[in-house]
Amino acid sequence: MDKSVLEVPASFRSKAAQKDFLNKLNRAFDGVKRIDRQALENAGIAIPDRINEGSETFSDEWIDFWQKWNTPLDLHQVREKHFPMWAHVKTKEQVQFITDLVLARNEAKFKPVIRPAKKVNPVAKNGATHSGVCQVCGRTQRVNNDTGLLAKHGFVVEWDQHHGECDGSGQLPAQVSTDVTVKRIASLREQSANILKALGDEPKRNAVSNNDAWMFWNNQTWLARELSRSADFLTNAVLPVLGKDFTPADHADI
Ligand SMILES: [Zn+2]
Repeated sequence: MDKSVLEVPASFRSKAAQKDFLNKLNRAFDGVKRIDRQALENAGIAIPDRINEGSETFSDEWIDFWQKWNTPLDLHQVREKHFPMWAHVKTKEQVQFITDLVLARNEAKFKPVIRPAKKVNPVAKNGATHSGVCQVCGRTQRVNNDTGLLAKHGFVVEWDQHHGECDGSGQLPAQVSTDVTVKRIASLREQSANILKALGDEPKRNAVSNNDAWMFWNNQTWLARELSRSADFLTNAVLPVLGKDFTPADHADI
């Protein structure tokens, strides 16, 4: 059991990196999921004959038996019902490892994908000579010399609702106005509070099993915290820029 696979990164550089991580957890699960005959025998569980005597067909008892002791192929198929079965034929450490793998998978699924910022050519595009801070993503972006608005740019943190263009594109930079940021902070705080209000108290969790209600509660609590952290980021990194000078465009992020 390699416990280092349980270390979930705070974010992933790409969707592919996130998928690789989930695959790694699955491979670790492959190493621990198998139930072998010896473990069953050691637990005093009788294994029926495989083949009907005198024929080539599997016996009904054997089929029933392996349906009962069937192990899920993949981590996402693990359910509460599997844990009592594993408790018979696996060590406490193995059962705990499976529990931790399920939790790590669940956590990793909700981590944000943050692409590293691209380095840009020092020659500014479209003759833009200055850059400003985006009111929505907080990154430095080019400012159009004619309109004074931020250039079109993508959103770095890929929440499900934020694929594609950043909402701060075509808006005033934070040096000039923070109206959009102020509204966004209020909205993020409200969303976070609403999630927590709807959730209520933490559901009880069985010592060995992962019940779905507990995992849902855990995920939603995490989401509420991330929304609140985004609001903190905008408060601390974007609002203080109001009234400050622009930076040269060759440092822009796009
Ligand atoms: Zn932006």
